[in-house]
Amino acid sequence: MGLMEKFFGFSWGVHPEDHKRPAADAATRVMPTPERLYVSLAQHLGAPALPTVLVGQRVGKGALLAQPQGAVSAAIHAPTSGVVAAIGEIPAPHPSGLPVLAVTLEADGEDAWADDLEACDDPFALDPAEISRRVAAAGVVGMGGATFPAALKLSSSKKAGVATLIVNGGECEPYLSCDDRLMRDEAATIVDGIRIMLHATGAKEALVGIEDNKPEAVAAMEKAAENHGEIAIRPLPARYPMGSEKQLTLVLTGREIPAGRLPADVGVVVHNVGTAKAVSDAVRLGRPLVARIVTVNGGAVRAPGNFLVPVGALVEDVLRCAGGLSREPARLVMGGPMMGMSLPHARVPVVKGTSGILALVAAEANGAVENPCIRCASCVRACPIGLLPLEMARRAEAGDLKGAVGIGLKDCIACGCCAYVCPARIPLVQYFAHAKGSLAAEERARLRTEATRKLAQARTARLEAEAREKAEAAARRKAERAAAAAAKAATEKIERVEEVGA
Ligand code: SF4
Ligand code: SF4
Repeated sequence: MGLMEKFFGFSWGVHPEDHKRPAADAATRVMPTPERLYVSLAQHLGAPALPTVLVGQRVGKGALLAQPQGAVSAAIHAPTSGVVAAIGEIPAPHPSGLPVLAVTLEADGEDAWADDLEACDDPFALDPAEISRRVAAAGVVGMGGATFPAALKLSSSKKAGVATLIVNGGECEPYLSCDDRLMRDEAATIVDGIRIMLHATGAKEALVGIEDNKPEAVAAMEKAAENHGEIAIRPLPARYPMGSEKQLTLVLTGREIPAGRLPADVGVVVHNVGTAKAVSDAVRLGRPLVARIVTVNGGAVRAPGNFLVPVGALVEDVLRCAGGLSREPARLVMGGPMMGMSLPHARVPVVKGTSGILALVAAEANGAVENPCIRCASCVRACPIGLLPLEMARRAEAGDLKGAVGIGLKDCIACGCCAYVCPARIPLVQYFAHAKGSLAAEERARLRTEATRKLAQARTARLEAEAREKAEAAARRKAERAAAAAAKAATEKIERVEEVGA
C-alpha cells in the first residue's frame, strides 16, 4: 500500500460542508484605510512588544512602532502613515475581551511607506542568518493562525538541519478562503518566499500541500513553481484538520511527529503560504507585515469575500466593507468556525493572525442543546491524534487534571473534530480549553512560587553574607584596636624605661 493510499484511508478527522464558495471566487477587494487603526502589541505568540514611539509622533507606513521583548516575540509596525494618537489599552480580539496594550494611529490619508526600508535585489546572496534577521525586523509571524515568530523558526530549522520545508496551503477550516485567494493571486511571490526560506533553512526540498477543493490555487502554484524542481505542489484530499502540522507532515512525508515533539524532530519545518509571501515582501522589498487577506463570511454577511485589510482595522469596519450585516449574528468569530475565537463584540482589531471574520447565523453556529453521552465512540474515531475525547472531558469536568493529562490532554490540538461529530452536542473542546487554562494557571502559580522561593533564598543568602561581613569587619576593627592599644602600651613602657635610665 502506497503512502498516499495508506493515509488517504482516513481513519481520522471530519469532512464538514466547506462553505468556501462563492466568497473564494470573488476577486480580493482592498479595504480603504480607516481613519484610525488600533495596532495591538500582542499579535504573536510570546511576550507583547515594547512601544518605541511617543504620542504625537509622525510615522511612515512600515515604521517600527514596538520592538520585540524576549526571544519569542515580534516587532510591530505602522500599517499606514500618520500620527500616533494614543498608546493605551483596547479590548483584545479574544473571547474575554480583556484589555491589551495597543498603539492607536491616526491615518494621514497618504499611505506613504517610510523611506528607510531595507530592500534587496538578490536575497540568495544574503547569508541565512541575515535573512532571519530581516524577517525578524519585518515582524513576520506564522500567518496560519499560530503567530509563532517566523525568523525564530527559520534559524532553529537551520540549526536543526531540517531536510524538508512543508508549506501549508491546506486551509481546511470551513468558510475560510484567504489562502486560496492568495495562492491564486500571488503564486509567484509565494514561490519566491519558499525559495528564500529554503535558502535560509538549508532544506533541500519544499512540499506544498493544497487541498483538492482549490483547483485554481493548485494550477496557479504549479505554474509558478514549474521551473523550480526543488518545489513540489501536492494536491491533497479535503479533510479537516489536514492543515495541522502533525497531519500535514504525516500525509506528505509519512513521518509521525511524536507527542510532545516538534516537526524539526522528524526533519521538517512547516510554514504557511501566507508566511512565504510575507517573507518575500520582507526580504525583497524590506516591507514589514502590516496587512493581510481576511475572509469575511457567514450567513449574516451581506457581501462575503476576501479583503486586503490593514492590521489594526476594527472588525466592525471590515464587516462594513463587506456590505455590513443583514441580521444579528448568533456567533461572531475571528478565524475559522472549528478553531477560531468567538468575539464578544466587533470593536476589536484585526491582528496578523486573523485569517477570517465570520458572522454566523443560528443554523451555522452549532448551538444545539447538550444531551447525555450515548457512548457512540464517534469522537474517538474522529480524533486525528488518536485520543479519547470523552474520557478526557470526564476527567477535566471532575477537576482531575492529572488524569486528563495522563491520557493526552496536552497532545490535543483543539481541532474540534470530536465536538463536531458528537451527536449529543457535548462541548468537548470547551472542557479541554478550560482544563488547559487551569493547567496554565497551575503552571504560572508553580513558577511564581518557584521564583518567590528563589528570591527568598537569595535574600537570606544576601542577609547572611552581610551579617558575616559585618562580623568580620567588627572583628577586624577589634583586632586593630587591640593591636593599637598594645603598640601604645609598648611605646609608653619604652618611654618610662628611658625616663628611668635618664
Ligand atoms: S480531542 Fe482534541 S485533538 Fe482530538 S478531536 Fe478533540 S479537539 Fe481534536
Ligand atoms: S461522540 Fe459524543 S455521544 Fe458519542 S461517545 Fe463521544 S461524547 Fe459520547
